[in-house]
This record gives sequence, C-alpha cells and structure tokens, in this order.
Amino acid sequence: MLTKTKIYLSSPHMGGSEQKFVNQAFDTNWIAPLGPNVDGFENDIKNYLGGNNEVAALSSGTAAIHLALQLLGVSKGDEVLCQSFTFSASANPIVYQGATPIFIDSESDTWNMSPDLLEIAIKDRIEKFKKPKAIIAVHLYGMPYKAKEINEISEKYDIPVIEDSAEALGSTYFNRACGTLADLGILSFNGNKIITTSGGGALITKNLELKNKAVFLSTQARDQAPHYEHSSIGFNYRMSNVLAGIGRGQMEVIDDRVKARRANYEYYKANLSKFDTIEFVEEPQGFFSNRWITCIKTNSFNTREAIRLALLEDDIESRPLWKPMHMQPVFKESLSYTDGTSERLFNNGLCLPSGSNLTENDLERILNAIIKTLNK
Ligand SMILES: *Cc1c(COP(=O)(O)O)cnc(C)c1O
Repeated sequence: MLTKTKIYLSSPHMGGSEQKFVNQAFDTNWIAPLGPNVDGFENDIKNYLGGNNEVAALSSGTAAIHLALQLLGVSKGDEVLCQSFTFSASANPIVYQGATPIFIDSESDTWNMSPDLLEIAIKDRIEKFKKPKAIIAVHLYGMPYKAKEINEISEKYDIPVIEDSAEALGSTYFNRACGTLADLGILSFNGNKIITTSGGGALITKNLELKNKAVFLSTQARDQAPHYEHSSIGFNYRMSNVLAGIGRGQMEVIDDRVKARRANYEYYKANLSKFDTIEFVEEPQGFFSNRWITCIKTNSFNTREAIRLALLEDDIESRPLWKPMHMQPVFKESLSYTDGTSERLFNNGLCLPSGSNLTENDLERILNAIIKTLNK
C-alpha cells in the first residue's frame, strides 16, 4: 500500500558536510561552547553578510535579543517598542529585562512595523512618560521591513533599533544583508529556520567592542583572573562547538536554500494568484525576501480555515499567520498602537509548507488540496 508521508511547514534540510564538521569536534574533543567550529561558523556568517560586521554565535535567537537589550542598557522602568506582528520570542526578552513592551502594528506593503505608527507611539510616550529605550523591528517571514523609514525615526529621536532578522538570513534590502541594517541585528538557527544548527542564534554588530562584550556576557561574565571573578551578571548563552559544526555545513548551502524557498513562493503564486480570494505579499522595489515561509492572505477567516482543514485532512501542515502580540493573553495589559492591519492578517492569512526540501510531488499535492477547496 502506498502511504502518503506528512508534509511539514518548514523542516530541517541538511546539506551533506554537517557531519564532517561535527565529527571534527568529536575527533579533537572540542565538545564545549567554544572551539574551531564556533570561530569557523562566525566567519562563514561574517563573509556571507559582507561589510565589516562582527558576529557572536549564541545558543538561540532569543538569547541574542536578550543580550542586545542588555548591551543597550535596557532595564526595569524602561519601555521598548516592538513589532506586534511577530513570534513571541521578539518580545519576551523585554520582559526578562524587567522592561515594558509596547506594541506597534504593521503596514500592509511588507506586513512589518509601520513607521507611521512607530512615530506616533514615540511622540505619545515622550509626552506621557519618557522616551522609549529601544525599537525591535522584525523582517517577518523573510520580508525586509522599511529600514530607511525606521532608521530615520531611530536617528530623529535617538532610539537604537534591534533588527530581528531571525527569519531573514539571505534577505537583502537595497543589496544590503538583513541583519546588518540596524545598530544590532540578530539571527536564529532554530530547526524551522532557513538554515539550522538544531538550536542557535547570533548577534551582529559593526562594533568589535560590542561583539566582545556580547561574548563576555554569554560566557558567564568572567573577569580576567586566575580564579573566577565577576563584576557583572552573566549568562550561559554561547553556541556549542558541536552545533556550530552543523552551522558550518549549512552555510555551504545557504544560497541553494534561498533559491529553493523562493521557487516555492513562485510556484504557489503562479498557480494560485488566478483566484481572486488569494493574495500574496509582493516585494517592494529594492526589497529581496528569502521567502522563508510563503504566506497567503485569503478573503475571509472561513476561506482560510477551509484551506487549512483541507490540508490537514491530507496530512499537510499549515498554520495561521502569527497572532499579534497585542492580542496575546500574556500581553493583555500592554499598551499598543494599532490600526487593524495585523489583526486582519491573523484572521485571514495562512502559512503554506515552505521547506527547501519539498519535492515537486509534495508541491502538487499541496496545490491540489488547496484548489479543490477553492473550487467548491
Ligand atoms: C525564531 C524566531 C526568534 C527566536 O529565535 P530562537 O532561535 O528560536 O530563539 C525570534 N524572532 C523571530 C521573528 C523568530 O521567528
């Protein structure tokens, strides 16, 4: 009997040399959160991003955001402006620092932080309380946010930006790599991202001193001394040398991964845009998305659910778009500046399977399930 296998939203896709690097870690006994793979992986990312960027490999993207906030001196009593339409990991570290998140809605061109609402929020918080301490903007699903506009506001009010590029390794903005567009950038190598180390992340900065400080804080903040001496609170956030080996293998195939994800998007778009109930988010001129996940916006919650359930029926994973942070029970007390954009996207939007390892058969199977529903 021919059984159909489950199709996942975004599954790991090894390139081939990962095990070689992992074996090197074993052969040389570098089974630690430091070693040649960590240095090698950092260099690979550095070369890939171009420009003079420094990279600190860490245990997760969440840890990278937490350290970024720490480096910017965000602490209790501070407010941080954060894109509402995102994964909770963008916002949680604000709370780890004892600071207060304030959520900003998206604009409809890129689905990312609205520069207009951002400026309204800054003016309002300055008038009513004090100047917010940082801005966290996100390149959601790989689509760059409006970096020029956000950076202009950042400069005008002198508030630094943390660029959450967890989903956007391989995306560019006017030929500049996402992750390098703001004061501090972060990447994630979680299992579902465009490349993975099973779990991992990185902090990106143009300032070598800040990189060194991030590494210092991520390795328990040990001062120079023969004994263990501490004058600040540290974290255990450095990347393992074993996992960095996976990362080195993955960096050999990053260009193929971006191509494959973009090809998925083109396939869905070519076959689905004839339905007037389905819309895609297009790249504005100069924006290049890695198309980490292909998302569709349908005409209603019911259409979205019909498609999702039809896919589920055929053992195909799909998922509603991120539920905005300002709608999450855990953040119900938080202030937000919204205009309904992310709420509509959440109600009507769906993430389609987007792995770089989807086969032609997989794509046809997914498409058939969707089209059957739309023709009903
Ligand atoms: C995955 C993700 C993170 C967190 O990265 P981890 O490595 O899973 O901690 C942060 N922000 C966004 C937008 C993400 O998608």
